[in-house]
Amino acid sequence: MLGEPSGPHDDDKPHEECGVFGIWNAHDAGAMTALGLHALQHRGQEATGIVSFDKQGSGFHTHKGLGLVGDVFGDARIIGALPGHAAVGHNRYATTGATVIRNVQPLYAEFEFGGLAVGHNGNLTNAANLRRALVRRGCIFQSTTDSEVFIHLIAISLYSSVTDRLTDALKQVIGAYSLVVLTQEGLIGVRDPLGVRPLILGRIDQPSENGLETKPSWVLASESCALDIVGAEFERDIEPGEIVIINDDGVRSIRPFGNQAGRFCVFEYIYFARPDSVLDGHGVYEARKRIGVELARESAIEADVIVPVPDSGVPSAIGFAVASGIPFELGIIRNHYVGRTFIEPTDQIRNLGVKLKHSANKAMIEGKRVVLVDDSIVRGTTSRKIVEMVRAAGATEVHMRISSPPTTHSCFYGIDTPERGKLLAANHSVEEMARLIGADSLAFISIDGLYRALGRPEGRDPETPHYCDACFTGDYPISLADIDENSRARAPVLVSEAS
Ligand code: AMP
Repeated sequence: MLGEPSGPHDDDKPHEECGVFGIWNAHDAGAMTALGLHALQHRGQEATGIVSFDKQGSGFHTHKGLGLVGDVFGDARIIGALPGHAAVGHNRYATTGATVIRNVQPLYAEFEFGGLAVGHNGNLTNAANLRRALVRRGCIFQSTTDSEVFIHLIAISLYSSVTDRLTDALKQVIGAYSLVVLTQEGLIGVRDPLGVRPLILGRIDQPSENGLETKPSWVLASESCALDIVGAEFERDIEPGEIVIINDDGVRSIRPFGNQAGRFCVFEYIYFARPDSVLDGHGVYEARKRIGVELARESAIEADVIVPVPDSGVPSAIGFAVASGIPFELGIIRNHYVGRTFIEPTDQIRNLGVKLKHSANKAMIEGKRVVLVDDSIVRGTTSRKIVEMVRAAGATEVHMRISSPPTTHSCFYGIDTPERGKLLAANHSVEEMARLIGADSLAFISIDGLYRALGRPEGRDPETPHYCDACFTGDYPISLADIDENSRARAPVLVSEAS
């Protein structure tokens, strides 16, 4: 049997990252931010928060809650209590720190220069070291999230301007981060030197109150789908290592880390980002389709029907079907009303899990040779249950095709993958994995095929890879300062129940 879930943060899959949003110079900044966060809900469903700033005198306002954006901000009175022309917001899925309200972002603090709110997507790899040093010198932490180190580093900085203090703080942190920062002087967006996590800039041109001139609103967001919902035009990606400072004079950019080639997270294309987003110049939906085409070229198989594992497998399955000429059918139906937090009190009920979320569309499967397309295998729990379900629905053969290379390494840059010992591909060959999930055959896209699908015909250049692909290659581009080298366990660790 494959490893089963064993705790609230240890279910059958890795957890999504966070989503950030910020807006400057908008009439309903709080409401706009709630909309933006709603579009970014797929990046985190555990908790959400907004901090607004009202320059008319009432200052900063905060509202945070556990749950979905619609639940936390669904009441107009709550939005009404977030007045102002500027706001930042955050959707959280915990990658560090427990699920308690004091860990919910944006984090807010009062400094000698005034209030500051920060929302962070990513994960710092030296946060534990920094935190120890800060606590030793007297800093009192309010939360257990790694993002709070930004607040203390800004507070103790000897520089005077907010931008200099922030830059000073950034020079001490190591890790992956996209930040939205709100002060009374402006909205600031930051991307880490390798640009591992996404952050984009958008703009809304709206007539000014006298109707004569246009005065843009500026938007920062994790993904472009959050621009569409507030009617903003895509301006550009924030560059790796860039800090943008937005105020009524416009957008100013500084690059305290110089210019270096980025290593954007390739998994954003495979799974995380919403298919209608455009990231780093590539439409996510198109990218997924091309991955499916490449996968079909690499691992063709005779079959009667291509079936996606919904939802994330759908675009690649379309690409696979087009390239292979085999019909595409929705042979698995997903129930969208199953919350992530569905209580599964006993093992028996928990094993029903996949049936709650997915069911077989028997008419499309019975008597057929089925190719299932999914985006990834992490522990293998989903694949095993889906293969079993499709066989039970009468498939004569079940072949699994995966639109990512085998996930052999944990992510330390903001994606809560399980430890390496629990990653099926870290411990088993592809043939063993096929046997464990019960498939007649199993194939993953190659790393070069993935790069080809993302517009790099030469494949992955090992000297200068374009993306962060550490979860597939073990090539970690940012130092893992907090991680004990031994715990990275280069030698395979067998999943005890697996063999
Ligand atoms: P597993 O059952 O552990 O093998 O997880 C694989 C499944 O989880 C696939 O169906 C993916 O679509 C899904 N998945 C992959 N990455 C993530 C993630 N970061 N968060 C939630 N689900 C994911």
